[in-house]
Amino acid sequence: MNGRPRLTCKTRLDALPLDAPITVRPMRTFPVIKDLVTDVSWNYQVNRKIPPFTPRPNVEWKMDQRDVDRVQEFRKCIECFLCQNVCHVLRDHDKREQFGGPRFFVRVAALEMHPLDGLSRTELLKEALGIGFCNITKCCTEVCPEDIHITDNAIIPLKERVIDEYYDPVRWFLRKLRGEGAESQALGVEDTNV
Ligand code: SF4
Ligand code: SF4
Repeated sequence: MNGRPRLTCKTRLDALPLDAPITVRPMRTFPVIKDLVTDVSWNYQVNRKIPPFTPRPNVEWKMDQRDVDRVQEFRKCIECFLCQNVCHVLRDHDKREQFGGPRFFVRVAALEMHPLDGLSRTELLKEALGIGFCNITKCCTEVCPEDIHITDNAIIPLKERVIDEYYDPVRWFLRKLRGEGAESQALGVEDTNV
């Protein structure tokens, strides 16, 4: 609206200058179908790559309140895709084949930080979702209508997990000793922007 990424349904008219026409345009990152309608189906393709909540077997279904609060922030997402719309990796560099986008880092964060979940999605983050392409510009956080701290609370902790898993020299050395891991996981090879 008026050149700024925000939800029309949540923007009050009295917050806009009324002495000039109000402009409403469709999102820029996704192909326009008609008028204000864009084709966001690509997002649902990304969503399907993410394994759902998978509880650990024989675990007690009990959570600390701080764990509930941490995950609850991510569950507030309404899938408006404003964050996807402003992310330069998608919008300007068109990395849809290699990059999942902030909305899906939020979803992975909700799963990875859930204390009862037993899966690791670190490889998915590094490879299929390309978290290394994010350079933490925080544009996604600025436009989120649910005030989710996408970069600080989701993306940065997930990047730290990828770094721990693939670039920590002690882990790398132990993997070498055990004869595990591909050469591409070696320190400093590709994706140094993680
Ligand atoms: S912080 Fe990362 S995910 Fe968010 S808009 Fe910037 S590059 Fe995209
Ligand atoms: S994280 Fe925020 S901006 Fe992104 S889709 Fe969810 S609610 Fe919208």
